[in-house]
Amino acid sequence: RAKSAGGNRFELADPESDARAITRHALTTALPAALERGEFFIEYQPLVHLGDGSVRGAEALVRWAHPQHGVLGPDRFIPLAEHTGLIVPLGRWVLEGAVRQARRWQGTDNGPVRINVNVSPMQLHHPGLVADTVDILEREGLEPGALCLELTESALIGADDDLLKPLRRLAEMGVDIALDDFGTGYSNLANLRRLPVSVLKLDRSFTRGMQQYPADPVDRKIVEGIVGLAHSLDLSVTVEGVETGAQADALRELGCDTAQGWFYARPGPPDRLHTLDLVDAVG
Ligand code: C2E
Ligand code: MG
Ligand code: MG
Ligand code: MG
Repeated sequence: RAKSAGGNRFELADPESDARAITRHALTTALPAALERGEFFIEYQPLVHLGDGSVRGAEALVRWAHPQHGVLGPDRFIPLAEHTGLIVPLGRWVLEGAVRQARRWQGTDNGPVRINVNVSPMQLHHPGLVADTVDILEREGLEPGALCLELTESALIGADDDLLKPLRRLAEMGVDIALDDFGTGYSNLANLRRLPVSVLKLDRSFTRGMQQYPADPVDRKIVEGIVGLAHSLDLSVTVEGVETGAQADALRELGCDTAQGWFYARPGPPDRLHTLDLVDAVG
């Protein structure tokens, strides 16, 4: 089947991309009922202190147990939920579940003490963000200092003061704000000063340059510079996507504070995240 695109230009329809579009549409339509039926679940990935290898917290990562397609990762449905606005109730559901889990860990004295939750740009634009967060923390009995909200660099680029206001309120309460996937977007370093963030999460692409030991000298210089700047602004640095011991060693040497990645543990169910299991994994 060829679609004419005007004049003498035409393109062949790509049956695969048609199929993807149909699936996307079907998934989008199915989202609200999926939330109601409880088809979403949260996996947790530990955040490890690079200095001593202890687990300091975990990041909550949402998944969809789709009855036909199996388990879908967030990249498959978060953009769809963003598009329709369902991300607001879905994001609230994740926040509530993650905060409840963090409180449970605190009670057992045998798990991560801090919880990181991803927040989409649309949730930031939604007027209920601060009230919902305060409400959930109070209801579940978690202190604000144990919560870290992750926003991507691109969500905050060009954000005006009105958009930053809810984040400032949360930061004043003691909630940490992390700049996720840092270094992937247009990184206006000077811009960092006006954002109420306390954590930089260095994108996985930087970790890749640390594959061999010693690390690639140019990548080293870049990470060294970012870490130096972050620390001078009182930000702590978390690195994503640490898959090997060599990467962990290089990033520790460069002064990064916290690490996350398959080298330590893949995202998994909350009961797999107890400190003892992780010490084994770190070896
Ligand atoms: P992110 O926040 O940057 O999360 C880190 C992603 O890297 C996760 O992918 C995680 O599974 C993956 N990862 C962790 N360690 C490694 C590693 O060592 N190597 C590699 N190759 N990957 C690693 P995941 O779970 O597929 O999540 C993808 C993105 O979806 C997240 O990126 C985040 O932006 C978004 N997301 C996940 N959960 C939520 C949520 O509840 N709300 C919103 N708004 N977004 C979410
Ligand atoms: Mg994140
Ligand atoms: Mg990230
Ligand atoms: Mg990332």
